[in-house]
Amino acid sequence: MELNQKLINLVPYEPIKGEYKVRLDANESCFDLPDQLKKKILENIGEISFNRYPDCMADITLEAFADLYDLNKDYVTAGNGSDELISIITSCFFEKDDVIVTMPFDFSMYSFYGSMYELNVKVFDKNEDLSIDVDKLIDFCNENKAKALIFSNPCNPTSLGLDKNEVRKIIKSLNCFVILDEAYMDFWDQSLLSEIEDFENCIILKTCSKAIGLAGIRMGFAVAKEKITTALRAAKSPYNTDSISQVIAALVLKEKEYIKEKCNILIQNTQELYNGILEIQNKYSVFEKIYLTRTNFVFIKTDKDELIYDYLLKKSIAIRKFKGFLRINAGTEEENKELLEVLELCVQQL
Ligand SMILES: *Cc1c(COP(=O)(O)O)cnc(C)c1O
Repeated sequence: MELNQKLINLVPYEPIKGEYKVRLDANESCFDLPDQLKKKILENIGEISFNRYPDCMADITLEAFADLYDLNKDYVTAGNGSDELISIITSCFFEKDDVIVTMPFDFSMYSFYGSMYELNVKVFDKNEDLSIDVDKLIDFCNENKAKALIFSNPCNPTSLGLDKNEVRKIIKSLNCFVILDEAYMDFWDQSLLSEIEDFENCIILKTCSKAIGLAGIRMGFAVAKEKITTALRAAKSPYNTDSISQVIAALVLKEKEYIKEKCNILIQNTQELYNGILEIQNKYSVFEKIYLTRTNFVFIKTDKDELIYDYLLKKSIAIRKFKGFLRINAGTEEENKELLEVLELCVQQL
């Protein structure tokens, strides 16, 4: 028995271990559900027949999701997190050695699954400032005979966004699949969800893990026209989302006012975090760049990434580091305040 080359050096995904007082590392919402809503959820979970398999299509959840985003639910497929949908798309929609294009920095699961399923993952380089040259990208996809382009907009981790005119141009100019991950689009106003009808080649991904505040259950969605949706529903595992998650997501997605309110606070908290970091920058000039954010996090270029990361961790504040960059998601007002105080103490000593 031998493990193949793909598995032999693979290690499990490891989020930060241990207990930290302030968690700003995973882009989660800082708001847990209110007690009243939790109570309602518990009552509804009590109604589930646990001996029965869940609904294959997660119909109640699709209905609530489609209603929230004003979509046709026939265009939606539910997944065990959007992560599972990325896995299904990359494993089932292409053949070995097909070219898919990614644009790092971007969500790492695109190239992870792409490689795992033996696709030819080609990298399109962003500009020095991490913006995207759309015309060059279109040429790149065509020259490489790409079968798919996959990217997040706004982008995790760069926090930057492409205007919908630009994204529309990409989708319309390419004949291949465009997998557009709008995981963070609740924090910005450039969604193309309402135009899905116009795109034969586009799959838009959404998740309950960020603005909706449900990272603890696993629920994501793929939105696409009938032909793609039919294929996706056929390719997925039949019972990919469980009864409990279906009930929870359906109840929370119906709380439109609650979602809107929390989303607005998260946008505001992100702006305050951004401004706070900018103030520190104005005093100490330690960062190379702080990127404009269209998300619920701030992305910073700095060669002091390791030092700052370790310092914060010692003070029980978890953030995310990349080589030469830091990513900090917005927390509550108090958490942001604490982060900014400790960050200032840290950079004073650099
Ligand atoms: C967090 C995130 C997701 C969400 O994945 P889930 O599996 O739904 O939790 C998807 N795409 C991007 C770009 C993300 O940052």
